[in-house]
Amino acid sequence: MDIGMQLVTTGSELRGILLGDEQYAGRRVLVPTMGALHRGHLALVKQARHEAGPNGVVVVSIFVNPIQFDRVDDLEAYPQPLEADLMLCQAAGVDVIFVPDVREMYAGDRSTLVTEKSLSRTLCGATRPGHFDGVCTVVLKLFMLSACHAAVFGEKDFQQLAIIRRMVRDLDVPVTIIESPTIRESDGLALSSRNVRLSHAHREDAPCIYMALSEAAMLRDANEIIQHARKKLGDSKHLKIDYLSLVDAETLQPVNELSHPSILAVAVFYDEVRLIDHVRISPA
Ligand code: AMP
Repeated sequence: MDIGMQLVTTGSELRGILLGDEQYAGRRVLVPTMGALHRGHLALVKQARHEAGPNGVVVVSIFVNPIQFDRVDDLEAYPQPLEADLMLCQAAGVDVIFVPDVREMYAGDRSTLVTEKSLSRTLCGATRPGHFDGVCTVVLKLFMLSACHAAVFGEKDFQQLAIIRRMVRDLDVPVTIIESPTIRESDGLALSSRNVRLSHAHREDAPCIYMALSEAAMLRDANEIIQHARKKLGDSKHLKIDYLSLVDAETLQPVNELSHPSILAVAVFYDEVRLIDHVRISPA
């Protein structure tokens, strides 16, 4: 049944239709995003459609969540092409799109945060203080407001995914977490809403991130892996490394040897634009 796409801007309306309206009674699958949608997001929507099944409901949220930004300039520069996003969602067969504003999501005197205290200590959590508190808090709110059965997240943000899985486990949240693989440009650059903010020269340079990680991942020694990736990234005159780390794929703690599945993860700055990427490395 094609019921067209419904645009909803308040939490009460969202819960109202998803829980009260007969046509939304099927399996509800949520895709949380911050908008500026690209093929990576659309792959998540496709997976959500598959998970929801023919009678299920695909809900996409678009909300640039201020409390997960550690820098005001990054929040203010975040692209918000809402019209284009709505058209993409419509074309992708999204059933409900939730676009709340900040006052709708957060009471002025809000005083509750969801904090994950282990996996969020390293990588992006170490260099972006409070980021994952903001992510966990908004994701839990979106789960509650949409009463979703499942939610799809990109493997691109693997630390975010691990932390959300941990939150769901620790707090008994009745939502199945589904992972969707990273979508890349043909030159290897991981798609990101921030890519449009790269200058021409920086966009030309940016494929070196994935190239450096992929080359380093062929090595078998933890130190050599880090050194090789650091050297390759250092060859770029344009980027600045925020962090480069080899971590255990489960605990996200730094490792000195490849005895377990590991992840080589990086965050770089091109001027003020911050990009992340990672590769998985299996033990020999
Ligand atoms: P964002 O709008 O950047 O907060 O991302 C919303 C969701 O899309 C998150 O689950 C991301 O991991 C996912 N995502 C972003 N970029 C990609 C990509 N290139 N491939 C797959 N998933 C992605």
